[in-house]
Amino acid sequence: MSKLLGWRKIPIGTIILEAGSTFEVRTGDWRTFKPVIDHNKCTRCGLCYYYCPDGSITLEVKDGKIVKVDIDYYHCKGCAICEGICPVKAITMVEEVK
Ligand code: SF4
Ligand code: SF4
Repeated sequence: MSKLLGWRKIPIGTIILEAGSTFEVRTGDWRTFKPVIDHNKCTRCGLCYYYCPDGSITLEVKDGKIVKVDIDYYHCKGCAICEGICPVKAITMVEEVK
């Protein structure tokens, strides 16, 4: 039977050395379905931006107005919250093909 280490000998783990380090993690690789925006239907209301739990909706803003809404596929995990929240059904989840 192996001897358990005392707490002083256990290596230090789970330390975040700098803020924002998870930005580097390609969480989009976890996705099985991806959201696609129909830009002809999108009214640029911004709701999907506020509801996305991963901050994966990007907004292009000019003169204080949203002029374009897009998806950051590097980070989007495919949860489909944006599809459900869009009031004009401009977002559709499609199967991810890799
Ligand atoms: S599918 Fe989920 S993670 Fe991806 S953009 Fe929509 S709300 Fe965000
Ligand atoms: S919720 Fe729908 S209509 Fe509103 S910005 Fe997002 S995609 Fe466009």
